[in-house]
Amino acid sequence: MKYAKIIVDISHEKLDRPFVYGIPEELEEEITAGSRVEVPFGKGNRRISGYVIDITEQADFEPERIKYIYGIRKGSLKIESQLIALAWWMKEQYGSTMNQALKTVIPIKKSVKEVRKQYIYLHTDRETAKHYLLEYQTKKNTAARARLLEELLEQEILEQSVVQEKLGVSRSVIRALQDKQIIEIRSDVIFRNPVHMKEQPEYDIVLNQEQRTAVEEILNHRDRTHLIFGITGSGKTEVYMELIQNAIENGKETILLIPEIALTYQTMKRFYQRFGNQISIINSKLSAGERYDQFQRAKQGEIKVMIGPRSALFTPFRNLGFIIIDEEHEGAYKSEQIPRYHARETAVRRGELSGATVVLGSATPSVQSFYRAERGEYMLHRLTRRANHLFLPRTEVVDMRKELAEGNREVFSRRLLELISDRLEKKEQVMLFINRRGYSGFVSCRSCGTPVKCPHCDVSLTHHKYGYGRRETLVCHYCGYSMDMPRVCPECASKYLGRFGIGTEQVETRMKELFPQAAVLRMDFDTTREKDGHEKILEAFATRNADILVGTQMIVKGHDFPYVTLVGVLAADLSLFAADFLAGERTFQLLTQAAGRAGRGKRPGEAVFQTYNPEDACIRAALHQDYQSFYQNEISYRSLMAYPPVYYMAAILISDKNEMLAEQASGDFAERIEKSRIDGLLVIGPSKAGLSKLNDIYRYVIYLKHQENDVLIQVKNRLQVYLNRSEKYRNLSVQFDFNPMNGY
Ligand code: ADP
Ligand code: ZN
Ligand code: ZN
Repeated sequence: MKYAKIIVDISHEKLDRPFVYGIPEELEEEITAGSRVEVPFGKGNRRISGYVIDITEQADFEPERIKYIYGIRKGSLKIESQLIALAWWMKEQYGSTMNQALKTVIPIKKSVKEVRKQYIYLHTDRETAKHYLLEYQTKKNTAARARLLEELLEQEILEQSVVQEKLGVSRSVIRALQDKQIIEIRSDVIFRNPVHMKEQPEYDIVLNQEQRTAVEEILNHRDRTHLIFGITGSGKTEVYMELIQNAIENGKETILLIPEIALTYQTMKRFYQRFGNQISIINSKLSAGERYDQFQRAKQGEIKVMIGPRSALFTPFRNLGFIIIDEEHEGAYKSEQIPRYHARETAVRRGELSGATVVLGSATPSVQSFYRAERGEYMLHRLTRRANHLFLPRTEVVDMRKELAEGNREVFSRRLLELISDRLEKKEQVMLFINRRGYSGFVSCRSCGTPVKCPHCDVSLTHHKYGYGRRETLVCHYCGYSMDMPRVCPECASKYLGRFGIGTEQVETRMKELFPQAAVLRMDFDTTREKDGHEKILEAFATRNADILVGTQMIVKGHDFPYVTLVGVLAADLSLFAADFLAGERTFQLLTQAAGRAGRGKRPGEAVFQTYNPEDACIRAALHQDYQSFYQNEISYRSLMAYPPVYYMAAILISDKNEMLAEQASGDFAERIEKSRIDGLLVIGPSKAGLSKLNDIYRYVIYLKHQENDVLIQVKNRLQVYLNRSEKYRNLSVQFDFNPMNGY
């Protein structure tokens, strides 16, 4: 006899525990994981519905207590069962409770007040508006007003939140135009789209040969997973749109994942222009209620395309045709909350459950995906030409060791300074990118060498100098702890405390000194803390309110800046020192993307990488924009070291307030795993985590590697069974991370 594990109807709160029911013989063939069934429940054997999440051969209770499934629910809602089956898979795959997995997959309806959206209209006639536009375009400091009027003249109606967030127009600017009766604001619930096109413009792009081939092959191989490897500007987005169009014509829906940071107003507009009200765009700022709303609309068939970040993957479409993941290499596709799922793998699973085709796209594919493509698991499509005939940027490397040897103590090489002044003269723009991934400007003692650390976390504090007259502080980027910059070393009382490395603030200050005529903007952790800080800075730069933009990796993505013709990377090698196996891959991606920022308009661009390691393979590959050689080098390293994607890897993170307990438990777990003598399993550790204390919690980590993921899942399951039975470890936190993307 067979049994089914069943989650009872999701409106009940008891989601966490599946109930076991017997499967009547006549239903054995029909019932599978995901089936929606009716079962007797509770004392009165009330007839309620539930979802089968798993089929087993045994049940561990007495036969006389077994209840049997009544039958399969008629007109079953396939979509819920699909998502529940997906949640079950995620729980198994990544290690979480069913409840955590379900909450990730199915947003819970919270009763929220309906938010009436505000819409902005032109209040004057178009002629008057055009007059104002001209005035604002020429006057100083009215660029935001001009931007708003320009969009309004084109679109007639704009949603206020979009104007603020995506166009970077502040509330006070809106109010000013409202006071002058140029615009008016109404609340309305009729227009659902944040961008309302007055009329659909003609769509006149004809795909080139490479694009057409990609589309045709994808359509001809619906059961495969596809990887589009296309350089920036090669027209990947046009390929996605063609696929979406095809899906719509065939009554199918599409989910398109785009990293939030890349989902700019320009991109949004492009999709609305082509697909109008058939699409919905969500972002992570939506409230639970709004997200639920959008998901409802998808379920009811009101929309055909959902565009959004990672969580859009769970849109309850019933007839899914495609799941497309743009910039598939992005770290943001991996969830850092439990279950720590990766959107790419989860998309492939959802594709299997729903019959949808998964399409991945990137200019710098993850080593993981390219490996799959090389082995024929994914179908590879290449787009090798820039569709709009733009040039690829020229790139060069400057050896900073030589600069120092020749007496230059600046953080800028002479070559870079020369190019900057050239661009300023030509009234072109410059981006200076400080690669600080996995690194922060810490303070340490020059006498005893001890860095100043956070008292709650095992990390160095980061130095902040809040400009004019405000005092210097040290901040912990993990827990937010901050203190005044100490006068003497907390360890040895020496006066010689010094800062290391270069910070964005320093670069900004130095730029202003060297080029007093230039307007300099800075974008980093500090200047983007306020809501929409991000968009505002980028918009100001896009509208040429500044000549130089200084920033961390956050400036290399998203916006197109047609007047940027020079990109300088100040510490190209810093990300190489991050303590995990993805350091090289990240460096290559960052540098390639940074270079891609130069020359997006009609003028050719140039990128300069300043480095102390000009011979490093990743930097050389980025210099020559040679993905293939980067990949070959990287994959031999991974294979040698048994790292993903050649091996599967999982981290077990053990943490507790009691350091002894955490240490002892991690030793105990590692020993149990070793003792099970699984063929080919590599156990690394236990050891203190790299970040060994976080918020006063001690952390230990064990890494597991094997050539088969299923083996790692088995180890996890056994450990979980052991943990569930153990009294000693009842309150201990044990978390799993499969294919971890960050070191612990
Ligand atoms: P990617 O997504 O690969 O960066 P896009 O799809 O955004 O590239 O294309 C870059 C630019 O080239 C866009 O302005 C797009 O409209 C244009 N473009 C793409 N394909 C074509 C084509 N076949 N003909 C003309 N222009 C194209
Ligand atoms: Zn000291
Ligand atoms: Zn801290």
